[in-house]
Amino acid sequence: MILETIKNSKMEIAPPLFQEFSSEHGGEAVYFIDDQAVERSYRHGLTIYVNVRAEYWRNYIQFGVESWEEAIVMKFLHEAGHIYCGHSGTLDEKGDGTSLSRGASKEYQDKCEREAWQAAIAWKQSRSFEDLVCAFKDWVSTHHYKNRTW
Ligand SMILES: [Zn+2]
Repeated sequence: MILETIKNSKMEIAPPLFQEFSSEHGGEAVYFIDDQAVERSYRHGLTIYVNVRAEYWRNYIQFGVESWEEAIVMKFLHEAGHIYCGHSGTLDEKGDGTSLSRGASKEYQDKCEREAWQAAIAWKQSRSFEDLVCAFKDWVSTHHYKNRTW
């Protein structure tokens, strides 16, 4: 019950810069989730839920990130990339944790993952990336993570 888990999680609306970036690329609202019960980031239609915990941020070093804050922004850009690329995907009430439609082939899912990362990596070269990282750091400065381990 991923959707239910998300709805019951500790979430808040992401800072304005994230909302603007999302709407400029075809998305809608962006939420930040800091809840250990939520394991990753998700998309539901055009809504983006970014898991802002960073236990595994080093997995993102392969995409060129140099800090955990940059890794969180990359997670957001990856989900925004799915929307920008027009990938279908909603979490259904009995969802199995994937953001892509159930029944999508493995090949289609892999293709979507590649395209979303390509979009994120291209955006990482832009000024927007630095601005989003700054906005995220500002948000972090007012946020209290419970059981922070990174
Ligand atoms: Zn993805």
